[in-house]
Amino acid sequence: MSRPLFAQINLAALAANLARAREYAQGTQVLAVVKADAYGHGLMRVLPALEQADGLALLELDAAVALRERHYTRRILLLEGFFEDRELAEIAQRRLAIVVHHLDQVAMLERAALTRPLEVFVKVNTGMNRLGFAIGEIAGICERLSQCASVAALRLMTHLARAEDDDGLKEPLDAFESACSGLPYPRSIANSAGVVRYAEVGGDIVRPGIMLYGATPFPYESAQALGLQPVMTLRSQLIEVRELKANESVGYGATYTAARPHRIGVIACGYADGYPRIAPNGTPVLVCGTKVRMAGRVSMDMLSVDLTDVPDARIGSPVVLWGEGLPVDDVANAASTVGYELLCAVAPRVPFVTTRVGALDLEL
Ligand SMILES: *Cc1c(COP(=O)(O)O)cnc(C)c1O
Repeated sequence: MSRPLFAQINLAALAANLARAREYAQGTQVLAVVKADAYGHGLMRVLPALEQADGLALLELDAAVALRERHYTRRILLLEGFFEDRELAEIAQRRLAIVVHHLDQVAMLERAALTRPLEVFVKVNTGMNRLGFAIGEIAGICERLSQCASVAALRLMTHLARAEDDDGLKEPLDAFESACSGLPYPRSIANSAGVVRYAEVGGDIVRPGIMLYGATPFPYESAQALGLQPVMTLRSQLIEVRELKANESVGYGATYTAARPHRIGVIACGYADGYPRIAPNGTPVLVCGTKVRMAGRVSMDMLSVDLTDVPDARIGSPVVLWGEGLPVDDVANAASTVGYELLCAVAPRVPFVTTRVGALDLEL
């Protein structure tokens, strides 16, 4: 038998989450965000589940080109636009839409001679302060671009810095409104948190990412409460079970010491698989469907858990590191990070298996 760790991707859950996003933002166009190889799920693997999206958004030009080569015909938006003149020919030829967030890009568009003019999303900085034009620049930029032979259509967009916070909407939305007032172009504002709060955020084109993968963008609202299902389940097995006597420790640095005698289980999954090494004692793990607590430090290829509550556990017992039965957000919370990071970080050595239906216990 091979090493029992694998990531199972549930395409039915992804399609259901996309439908859920549509319910939240009814009547809008939905661009499914698939950057970072679909948040670590594998872009080509998940593509069949995104058939109902109006388009895709990502920032890797090579992935966008690969989509066209796979005959993906709907809109593809490059979220960081382009970086050099020489990319524009390919962008035009492949019918890619671009975000424009910098004056250099405007100048490159003005001097380009393209086979086909582009759909351009003008990015407004509403307080994220990473990319985007200042409020007062937008009207002038749109004027310049509307004169530009390389531009077929304009959209206005922004990316919200705190859409998940109760008080995180008013300021940026007011800023966006003042930047765009009087401009007749469609608008794109909402990420996942903005989609859930669509009634407050509005816009014509939404850009959900994390919610499609069944994790929550909110610190205090679970994915389940939002009607989302986990798409990735990281599964493994116990590869060892042993007794720890009182005062014995487990793992590097002896960071966990048994207060009383109990069994521990060793799981085939470590930080070289993308499991966060920073996850402390007590981080939740499912063994035979029961939530148990991590004991000792995560090592490169293994981690250990306290089996006190699972007397039936044996070598070969099924383990879920995150996914069905254990939200990735719960593991992320324990590790002081967000579900996004864990999903994106699954290592290349972990095999992926795709299913179209729910809770399958695959035997590999
Ligand atoms: C990543 C990204 C999104 C999606 O954000 P989620 O929080 O994952 O929904 C939307 N818009 C832009 C510009 C992004 O970079």
